[in-house]
Amino acid sequence: MKAAPLLDLKNVRRAFRKADGGELLVLDDVDLRLEEGEIVGLLGRSGSGKSTLLRLISGLSQPNGGTVNYLGRPVNGPAAGIAMVFQSFALFPWLTVLENVQLGLEALGLPAEEIRKRSLAAIDLIGLDGFESAYPRELSGGMRQRVGFARALVVHPSILLMDEPFSALDVLTAENMRTDFLELWAEGQLPIKGVILVTHNIEEAVLMCDRILVFSSNPGRVVTEIKVKLPQPRDRLDPAFRDLVERIYVEMT
Ligand code: ADP
Ligand code: MG
Repeated sequence: MKAAPLLDLKNVRRAFRKADGGELLVLDDVDLRLEEGEIVGLLGRSGSGKSTLLRLISGLSQPNGGTVNYLGRPVNGPAAGIAMVFQSFALFPWLTVLENVQLGLEALGLPAEEIRKRSLAAIDLIGLDGFESAYPRELSGGMRQRVGFARALVVHPSILLMDEPFSALDVLTAENMRTDFLELWAEGQLPIKGVILVTHNIEEAVLMCDRILVFSSNPGRVVTEIKVKLPQPRDRLDPAFRDLVERIYVEMT
């Protein structure tokens, strides 16, 4: 028997009540599967419902219709196997790098020595060796987001959800971080089985993802699913890369 997909969302609907009593339909009949080994992109304009969908997957919010399954079971609250990286890093400024990362593990009830060991390993993996005692304000934006990655990875999640993780960074820093992430992923060094990457950056989606779901706005529906059949590492200058970016651009406008 085939194993259940990491994630399986069917006919997901999410609406919010508006101040005038009306309803704002944000996600309308969305299907999404994530299989082991995949990076799936959610690409859409601001307001198309991407973050709302991640909140449903991470159990922070419930759908009004449809089902959200993680490893074959409905998600009905924050699950231990799903971790998130945020656009704004979401670090605690009064805690050091090590303390911020350890925080991710404290809910798991491990012995203190184990917490420290795993946190140092995650910090090392993500390229912050030597910065354990630094405070977020002493780090560049890229390094702060590396802390965000370490804090998510330290719990050894099955699924990593990334909500525009590189969009607060300058272009070269973002490019470095994408390359480093893809290298670790390709080498099997990351303790994760699948990734959902939310972005409004078409090139980023084509650089990083195996499949891309393109969202329309108003209301949020998946308008196209695109399989990215380009060899890794992907080259922005490759005509096949440019063609795909252009095709998606047309879909989105
Ligand atoms: P994206 O991440 O694609 O930019 P969001 O999922 O954040 O989009 O938001 C989609 C729409 O849903 C927006 O119009 C937003 O204002 C609305 N929305 C999101 N969360 C809430 C909420 N808790 N209450 C009311 N409206 C919300
Ligand atoms: Mg968002």
